[in-house]
Amino acid sequence: MKITRVHARALHIEFPIGVLGITDTQSMNCVFTEVETDDGHIGYGFSAITNVEVVTTAINKVAGPAILGDDPVATERVWDKLYWLLCPRGQGGHGMHAIAAIDVALWDIKGKALDLPLWRLLGGARKKVPVYATFGFGFFDRDQLGDAAKHWIGLGFDKIKMTVGMNALARRDEPRPLEDAIRADVARVQAVREAAGPDVGIYIDANCSLDPLHAIKLAKQLEPLDIAFFEEPINQNDIRPMVDMRRQTSIPLACGQNEGQAHRFRDLMIHGAVDVIQPNVVISGGYTQCIKVAGMAQAFNVTIDNGGAWPFHNMHLHGGVANGGLVECHFLSIESCKRIFKSLPEQENGWLTLPETPGVGLEPDLNAVHDLEIH
Ligand SMILES: [Mg+2]
Repeated sequence: MKITRVHARALHIEFPIGVLGITDTQSMNCVFTEVETDDGHIGYGFSAITNVEVVTTAINKVAGPAILGDDPVATERVWDKLYWLLCPRGQGGHGMHAIAAIDVALWDIKGKALDLPLWRLLGGARKKVPVYATFGFGFFDRDQLGDAAKHWIGLGFDKIKMTVGMNALARRDEPRPLEDAIRADVARVQAVREAAGPDVGIYIDANCSLDPLHAIKLAKQLEPLDIAFFEEPINQNDIRPMVDMRRQTSIPLACGQNEGQAHRFRDLMIHGAVDVIQPNVVISGGYTQCIKVAGMAQAFNVTIDNGGAWPFHNMHLHGGVANGGLVECHFLSIESCKRIFKSLPEQENGWLTLPETPGVGLEPDLNAVHDLEIH
């Protein structure tokens, strides 16, 4: 089998929020990638949470042409070739997103060629994976957050995640002092705990938006509210202050979704910076690297969960490997996927059942993809 075509498209997806009577729209961007083989297989790759036009150009102009004629099933060989092409001095960033998008497509092809769903190909550890809902976005005001929490609990979730920080460092010159930002966060998380009751797991995510001082301060104030984990609490996932923070708070810490190179995952674990490590297959170098990160996590006895959204790609990793964990049913990413793919698995009572269709099992609506393309 040989790779005959690689083509990526940058997509911009807009959709109405559509819950609690809110009529505003939200949007997400992603990279949709097709890899075709000489025997007619097409693999669909994906990446997101970065500048999608840069990644699309990297694939179409550099990475794609370099792997034409290569064996798509030789995922280690192709990954290594792309590493030396796009990030030869250990860079992460856009190059690693481009590798992830292509690698996801190659594993999709491998599954289709072998007639196996990807989670079985990766090890087949479990037929269904536990999920949590990411619902608590900044567009909900404090009063709406409680209702939103009840809405998602009503859908069957007993684990729910909300954002904190909300770009606090980036917005400090509005002015919006970090003290004000974390004071608002405490009130928002309190509103969600009151609405959710004591038995629902509440997870928080600062998306790297706080400095260590305010991340620790916020964590201390939220400790009485029984927080399941605090994701990306500190700017840049900076390892040394993450270690300091982990020693100072009883709230478990998580990160990894935006990391590129394997050594960053190793260092986060070897220094004891995290309780939960979060490789994301559409960001952290595809399935090829994420199964290695999962192996490292097993050796370090560190839990892995999905952060950084895109559950329909990440569920295969967590279903495949023995130490797989929670998959993130991220509301905005699921709404985005509904506009790209024809049918999607749905969670039931906090579980996603993995598909038996070969490969990743996502069939795109190519007319919709065409309409969503950024030109
Ligand atoms: Mg996150």
